[in-house]
Amino acid sequence: MKLILLGAPGAGKGTQAEILSKKLGIPTISTGNILREAIKNQTETGLKAKAFMDNGQLVPDDVIIGIVRERLSQPDCAKGYILDGMPRTIPQAAALEESGVHFDAVVSIEILDEVIESRMTGRRVCGSCGASYHITANPPKAEGVCDVCGGALTIRKDDNPETVKNRLKVFHAETEPLKDFYAKLGILKLVEGNQPIEDATRDILKALGM
Ligand code: ADP
Ligand code: AMP
Repeated sequence: MKLILLGAPGAGKGTQAEILSKKLGIPTISTGNILREAIKNQTETGLKAKAFMDNGQLVPDDVIIGIVRERLSQPDCAKGYILDGMPRTIPQAAALEESGVHFDAVVSIEILDEVIESRMTGRRVCGSCGASYHITANPPKAEGVCDVCGGALTIRKDDNPETVKNRLKVFHAETEPLKDFYAKLGILKLVEGNQPIEDATRDILKALGM
């Protein structure tokens, strides 16, 4: 199963990707998590990406395409994978097509901009494994501690309301056109994102015919 999760920042891609990854036994590839890890480790990629991410802009396509090509060539991707946060532009989607990757489905998690702000102000992410929580909608078992790996939870620098506004603008301009791109390929599925987490998971699995 090769799956793409599309959706605005805060739509619930990371949350659903984690759940689906466990259910389907395939890895999740989150370009956001890979980039945040690169920034933490001060790699060349991290240094290139940081200013774009802090401003809510997209990291250049060539950087992302390089990261994803490398990651998809690893053995754990052989049985399939879930892409979370990639592609975000038409050139990124075209690069995936050109490398001969064909997806079973592209699930767009639909949500209105108005809902996003409260999601982002309540988001906490694990600084070690990248797992995503929400202080009220999806709290960890112990405050400030990741259920998955015991890492410390942090607030993402780009989750402040001003940067979120930018990210939404960028989403509508650059990423939303991908819905048309994948609709034309006949693999686009729309799922309501403004409902409890487990209901969204149920609808995604239904859309995948599971
Ligand atoms: P994305 O990866 O699309 O940016 P996340 O999965 O990190 O989004 O979710 C954004 C925030 O919203 C997180 O705090 C997450 O816990 C919370 N969240 C995710 N799905 C839902 C939902 N269905 N209802 C309420 N809150 C949600
Ligand atoms: P995310 O964790 O998916 O919300 O991504 C956080 C930030 O990382 C985005 O706002 C972008 O700056 C950058 N990023 C992640 N994935 C991509 C991508 N596919 N293309 C360009 N920039 C990306």
